[in-house]
Order: sequence, then C-alpha cells, then structure tokens
Amino acid sequence: MDQKVSQLIDSYREAYTEMLQRWVRIPSVKDAAEEGAPFGREVRRMLDTAMADAKALGFDVRDFDGYACDVTLGEADEKIAVLGHLDVVPVGDGWTKPPFEALIENGRIYGRGTNDDKGPALAALFAMKAVREAGIPLKKSIRLILGCDEESDWKDMEYYGAHERIPDVGFSPDASFPLINTEKGMLVLELNAPAARTGLKVLEFATGDRINVIPGECKALAEGGPETAEKVRAYAEKTGLPYTAEVTDRGVLLTATGIPGHSAYPEGKRNAIGMMLLLLKELGAEGPVAVLAEAVGTESDGTALGCACRDEVSEGLTCNMGILRLQEDGTWKGTLDMRCPVTADQEALKQAAAAHLPGFDVTVAIQKPPHHVPAESELVSSLLAAYEEETGLEGKPMSTGGGTYAKVLKQGVAFGALFPDEEDLAHQADEYEEIDRLMLAAKIYANALIRLAGE
Ligand SMILES: [Zn+2]
Repeated sequence: MDQKVSQLIDSYREAYTEMLQRWVRIPSVKDAAEEGAPFGREVRRMLDTAMADAKALGFDVRDFDGYACDVTLGEADEKIAVLGHLDVVPVGDGWTKPPFEALIENGRIYGRGTNDDKGPALAALFAMKAVREAGIPLKKSIRLILGCDEESDWKDMEYYGAHERIPDVGFSPDASFPLINTEKGMLVLELNAPAARTGLKVLEFATGDRINVIPGECKALAEGGPETAEKVRAYAEKTGLPYTAEVTDRGVLLTATGIPGHSAYPEGKRNAIGMMLLLLKELGAEGPVAVLAEAVGTESDGTALGCACRDEVSEGLTCNMGILRLQEDGTWKGTLDMRCPVTADQEALKQAAAAHLPGFDVTVAIQKPPHHVPAESELVSSLLAAYEEETGLEGKPMSTGGGTYAKVLKQGVAFGALFPDEEDLAHQADEYEEIDRLMLAAKIYANALIRLAGE
C-alpha cells in the first residue's frame, strides 16, 4: 500500500486510542425510546459523540434522527459502503475488568464494545482519514454508515434505507478476518406454554436479556427444603456441573453456572438455562420444563429438537435458548435462536421444532434469509488481497452463524477486525482488543478502500 497512508495511520495511534476510550466509556446499551433517541439516551449520546468526532476529523456527517449516521468521503455518486455499529450488548456476567472504563493494560484496551464494534468502526473511520490526507484520488466515494440498533432489531438500517439509498457494494468491519462471505440464515422462535399443574412447582424463573446471548447464569426458585437442596448437591456431583442450592423461607433458590457467549458460536460454551431445565426435570418438574429439558437442554446443534442439519458452504445449524421466563400470569415464555445453513428450509425447521415441543405454541419472531457473495467476486478478491498485503497471511473466505450488516448490502461481506489467532470475546466478559491489532485493521481497511474506490 501507499507508504504515506501507512505512516499516516501510525501517526493517528494516540488520537485513535483517546477517541476509542471515550466511545467505550459510553454504555450504549439499548434502552427505552425518548424523543430523538429511538434506542435510549445513552445510545443517542454515543451517536452524538461519534458524529462530533467524525466532524472534528474533517468529514461530512449526517444524522438520521438518532437511528444512524453516515460519514462520507468523496463526491462520486457510486459509493463503497462500510457498515459498523455504535450500540453494544448488555454487560452480562463474569467481568474481572470494569466494562465501561476503557482500561488499557499491556497494550490491550478492555471494555464492552472494544471489539464489537466500536474499535473496528473507528479503525475504518481513521482509514478514511488516511486516504483523504494522503490525497489518494477516488473514482468512487466512501460512505461509513454507523447504526445504533445492530445488537437488537436492525431498525437503524431499516430507517436509514427508507431515507437514503444504501450502496450496493461494501463491507462490515464487525466480525473476523480474513473475510466472511457466507452468513447462515436466522430463525428465531418464540415459545409460549401454560405452566404445569403437576410435578415440582417452579415459583420464579426469569433468565436472559437477549435472544443472541448464551446466558452464563440462571437462577430459579422452586418449592422444597433441605431434601431438595441435598438432591441438587447429588446432581451436581453426578454431572460434574456447577449447581448450587440455598434453602430460603420461600423455597429453594437454585443456581446454574454456564459458560456465556454469543448464540451463533456455541462451541465451548454452556447454556445456563439449559442446565437449569435439566436440574428442574431431575427434581421432578413436569410439563413445559420437562419438555424443554428433553428437546433443548444444553444442546446447541438442534439434534433433540429435530433440527440438526448442515451443508458445505455454511457448516452446521446452531440453536440457543437465550431467554426463558415464568411470567406473572403463570405462563412460560422463551426464545430459540437458530442459525441455519444456506440450503436449510426454515419453514420445515419451525415445524420440526414445534413437533418436538408438545404443549408449546411456537411462533416465528424473526426470520432472516442466508447471505452469500461468491468467492470469485471482485469485492472478495480485492479485500483478501488487502488483507494478504498488510498481514502476510493467507486470505481465505469463511462462513458464520453471526448475522452482520454485510447482508444489508446487495454485495456485502464481513471483513475483520478479529484476527485468526485472537480470542473472540464479543458479547462476553472482559471483552478487549489489542491496540496494535486495531491499528493493523485500520491499515487493512485503508488498503481495501483504495482498491475498491481508488482511481
Ligand atoms: Zn457487532
């Protein structure tokens, strides 16, 4: 790549780090809508901060009524899009570092959003700054679109698309390098059932904030006393899993400790809701709890649910129960988040799940088709060439169960910013990024943008 661009990016290190720290210190978790702030006050504050910073870096910036903003470089009608997001998932359990202080230790910056997606989105912004300041002539313009609802409902992109034409071609710096050109389809089912009249009585159960998070801890209050607590200890010993029981004056308070993560990447994780269901069934729960324990439990590939399937470009289906609640009206409500291979028939999957969940009303809450950009396309080959040139590593396209903004674009792929040898801590405790890696990502993005938009 142009030497000057590379040197410019090195020179931005301090400014980049300071800006990212300020961004990470804003807990931009979705909250109740307010006027001009459709995703809550903190998300609005994050958007205002990002817009002010982009303006201060010398870019044209536009606000889309609190749903998103865009930052444009160049005048040409034809545009290359870069799609990132400013919202973050809730903190969750298990942090040993402060989640919103942007602490820097040993070259790492810790905090929610350092990797997903504030760090990479900001790397793309500084890449644009370097392209501009190096005076690289552009035949296409570059448009960075920063959304505010990626972790929830993608209402930001819906709103943006209703008010501005979304470019056809581009990438989203919101996943992994080298590049993801295949995204599985998404099928989220909502499950509703009346509570059982027989068996162990469950008094309280409310776990999970988001469908796309594997819960790391699940608590439930069930009827019983010291005898029940003893059964829990025996079950913990038999299974080797971390369960605890505490006798209270209202019943036995049960805790299951899982391994939290992102629903699309269940490998090595353990769903605490699933653990709790298995325990409650062991203790004598019947009806919906027993049905879910058998058909879902801690399984993440949908086998017992009759949904397991796979294909060559996208690998196997994944399934996660992110939310399960015993509601005040005495009914159970839960969610299953399935990431489906490109060739899977989603209607058939829904029917298979319903058939394995007797007593439940099963409805489709979210459905998104799969997304695929051919490996031979100009987009994929240009981005991989940029990656190879900057890292010296081999660039090969991959598939994922994660949905990224890439599929908002007709021809879009996910491109970075997690490197192949890095631990993926998106949506997990102690999320961090190495500042060196973020600077390298900025160079890869600048290289890629010059290939895609340069003369
Ligand atoms: Zn993200």
